Amino acid sequence: PEALLAMLALWAPPLPAKPIKAKKVYDVEEIGAAIKEGALINYYQPKVSVASCAVIGVETLVRWHHPVDGLIFPDQFIGVAEANGLINDLTRMVLTQAFAQEKKWQQAGLELRVAVNVSMDNLASLDFQDLVVDLAAKAGISPHKVVLEVTESQLMGDMRVSLEILSRLRLKRFHLSIDDFGTGHSSLAQLRDIPFDELKIDQGFVHHAWKNETLRAIYDTSLALAKQLNMESVAEGVEDRDDWDLLRRTGCNLAQGNFISKPLLAEEIPAWIEVWKQRVQTEKLQT
Ligand code: C2E
Ligand code: MG
Ligand code: MG
Ligand code: MG
Repeated sequence: PEALLAMLALWAPPLPAKPIKAKKVYDVEEIGAAIKEGALINYYQPKVSVASCAVIGVETLVRWHHPVDGLIFPDQFIGVAEANGLINDLTRMVLTQAFAQEKKWQQAGLELRVAVNVSMDNLASLDFQDLVVDLAAKAGISPHKVVLEVTESQLMGDMRVSLEILSRLRLKRFHLSIDDFGTGHSSLAQLRDIPFDELKIDQGFVHHAWKNETLRAIYDTSLALAKQLNMESVAEGVEDRDDWDLLRRTGCNLAQGNFISKPLLAEEIPAWIEVWKQRVQTEKLQT
């Protein structure tokens, strides 16, 4: 792992592919009201096993059903929420919805893990640990059904409190995932200190990695690192059959992306699972 870490540290993060376009960013008051009024809705994107094609779980991705502007994506409000002390309220709301939904799926006989994105700002106080434990207990779901995703690039700076919270959550059997892996190379040393269960290779190193040497090198190295550190590997941003076939050839554990399914409303998941099972047969997706 040390050698792999050193190799990965040599790569700089990719430059943004598109010129940055001015996008409407919402103000604090409006976002605060949206949280209170229940206008933020969880969508769920399936995660599947590459070898068996079994649906293993879903990742929670929040969207804002804006009364005037329509469907708003997280990049237009998460940053503002983080910068203005709203992220704890937002995460509490997302966790509450996700855990209630997880319970419903279980009652319907669906065995799915539910992943939730946690902001580094949520890991500033030990209260967060109590909050997660408490919400799961109240919803009646066990911690090993929950995955907490933390973005690699946020794992920087003074990590003592965040480390403590993550370690405590893991002791309680919550699963920890390192998200967008490969985009925050300056913090790779943190991997030794935090017991992550899952490594999600950033979508920038997955789509087209089968035909691009540089992407492929980073993809392979990330996968090897996950294996050596006993983490489950997840490829995100799987967009087409060529991407999928690379995962099969290289033995990546799990896959997520638009080739499998875009993020869906909770109600759409059961019907999607049936459609997926059919696709696995007709398109011969299994290894
Ligand atoms: P993420 O956690 O890395 O989530 C993956 C993002 O990639 C999602 O964007 C998803 O819709 C998108 N995606 C999935 N499959 C594909 C694909 O095949 N191709 C491409 N090009 N994109 C794909 P989304 O939903 O816009 O979320 C963006 C980011 O916002 C997330 O990145 C996550 O960091 C953050 N986020 C989303 N929900 C929450 C939340 O509830 N709390 C916090 N703190 N952050 C959140
Ligand atoms: Mg994520
Ligand atoms: Mg990601
Ligand atoms: Mg991301």
